[in-house]
Amino acid sequence: MRTDKIVPLPPRGEPPASRTPPRAQLFPDDESLLPEGSVVDGRYASHDVVDGADYVVIGTGAAGATAAVTLASAGYSVILVEEGEWVRTKEFTADVDPAMKRMYRDLAAQITVGPATYAVFQGRCVGGSTTINSAIALRAPDQVIERWGTAFGLGREVTPAILAPHFDALEKSLNVVAVAERVAGNHNTLFDKAAKQLGIQAQPIRRYDGGCLGSASCITGCPNGKKLGMNITYVPQTLKHGARLYTSFKALRLQTRWGRATGVEAQAPTGAMAVFQASRGVVVAASVVQTPGILKRSGVKLHALGRHFQAQPGTSFVARFDKTVAMDFGATQGFNSTHFVESDRFKIESLSLPPELLTLNLPGIGPSLTSKLHDYKHLLNWAMVLRAETEGRVVSMFGKDLVMFAPTQSDLGRVRSGLKKLAELMFAAGAKEVWPNIRGMGALKGPDDLRMFDSAPLNPSYYSLMLSHLFGTARMGPDARDAVVGTDFQVHGLRGAYVVDASVFPTNLGVNPQHSIMAMARLGATRIIERPLPKI
Ligand SMILES: Cc1cc2nc3c(=O)[nH]c(=O)nc-3n(C[C@H](O)[C@H](O)[C@H](O)COP(=O)(O)OP(=O)(O)OC[C@H]3O[C@@H](n4cnc5c(N)ncnc54)[C@H](O)[C@@H]3O)c2cc1C
Ligand code: SF4
Repeated sequence: MRTDKIVPLPPRGEPPASRTPPRAQLFPDDESLLPEGSVVDGRYASHDVVDGADYVVIGTGAAGATAAVTLASAGYSVILVEEGEWVRTKEFTADVDPAMKRMYRDLAAQITVGPATYAVFQGRCVGGSTTINSAIALRAPDQVIERWGTAFGLGREVTPAILAPHFDALEKSLNVVAVAERVAGNHNTLFDKAAKQLGIQAQPIRRYDGGCLGSASCITGCPNGKKLGMNITYVPQTLKHGARLYTSFKALRLQTRWGRATGVEAQAPTGAMAVFQASRGVVVAASVVQTPGILKRSGVKLHALGRHFQAQPGTSFVARFDKTVAMDFGATQGFNSTHFVESDRFKIESLSLPPELLTLNLPGIGPSLTSKLHDYKHLLNWAMVLRAETEGRVVSMFGKDLVMFAPTQSDLGRVRSGLKKLAELMFAAGAKEVWPNIRGMGALKGPDDLRMFDSAPLNPSYYSLMLSHLFGTARMGPDARDAVVGTDFQVHGLRGAYVVDASVFPTNLGVNPQHSIMAMARLGATRIIERPLPKI
């Protein structure tokens, strides 16, 4: 007899009233609510552009938007340059295909180079990856930041105590709260139940939450305007402070003169060129993959640039239940556990995927795959994220920024252990069948089959990893011989060029990075304001 408490679902095919997007509603990214002339769309640029401001910020994601709003609200004029377009909330749907085409880098087909090919997911749109992410907001563990001080020379310049007020301010401004019970959904509550049964500490996930309705579609953009990504928060706020945003303009390089950054050259898809003059400085926040290329094209030759790439690769897999799970209702990611982060370097979490993406995790083709998809309401998908030890590189070749990443045997061993733990949790939650997403490994029918994981080969090509938590390619440190920026976030040897994204992180974290990226970007912008360079 089944005893699990399942939240009643609406009749098949009929969404709960709360999930129907209120399309007539105005959201903060609506054109009519933004200052006139504050957004220039490069898709329609018919002639070259010259503009100027105190600061030019490259990238509108977690780091760029946070730095921009901090600078603009302190009274500085700001120009934001964004390679992607601004897809507005009123255009968001749960359809995966158009979302990936318009908002993901390389149509979501960016991959690593190396012994195995893994997906590298990044947003390429206004709001960057925050527009298409799950809004998980976790602080970096204190031990990680303390180690940056002792092992990477950040000393007393970046400490948990220095970051704390920035985390506090972000949590207040972006309403960081735990997922509400009413929108948890079964795929999240089952995680809680299984964790309790196995004695594993787990918590509802804290997120940037403006009143989530549980539509489980964070990764295609929140159609309800409830996920507080940069696209509907700090970017519109920056514009209201008088800033201008150039969308669909790709920053090519920094302009420099006598060892100082003076502006940015950019190009629109129409071929129109732009020069954005920066009288006080340029803030680079184009992400761990794109920032090194921009700096290299600007003549920065530091040895560490593009090296020390780190990641927290993730993978997820599916279980089938007899009872209805309906993972299309509930916060996309609502429960997680950091229980194994310190001991085994992996974090586990629930993750709802739409049917189109679930095909990547389901075995079989043709009728075998179709029948599994047909059973969507009975399927559940959970994920693990590894704090990998592997270091890779980002290189610019053929006009592209390529990620080279080859996981070590010990990293793969930890992935395997994480997957085994997740499968154990799935069975504790009542799963009848588990498909482990490791090449050559068949379906698991019960806890006795868990031992099959122990003989899975530690071969990179056997695992289906996905990289979206990225770090380290312009790392911070006092010595220009093995770091790219100092603790003032300024590029060694190039005054007025600042980097504030996760490229500057000396290491990965063990938890989802957006919150720490924003705290560091806020610290960086604050330091720029406190230690301004003379205007040129
Ligand atoms: C699907 C997905 C889910 C995730 N879920 C979470 C989560 O729930 N919680 C969490 O903590 N983390 C999550 N992450 C990771 C998190 O979103 C990123 O770590 C974070 O957004 C990175 O911040 P960033 O500012 O460095 O880069 P981004 O947010 O990616 O922004 C960089 C921006 O720079 C722009 N850009 C790049 N090159 C140029 C150029 N040459 N000129 C102009 N603009 C340029 C890009 O188009 C992009 O908009 C997720 C990531 C993905 C992809
Ligand atoms: S689950 Fe995500 S997309 Fe859906 S309402 Fe909540 S925040 Fe928005």
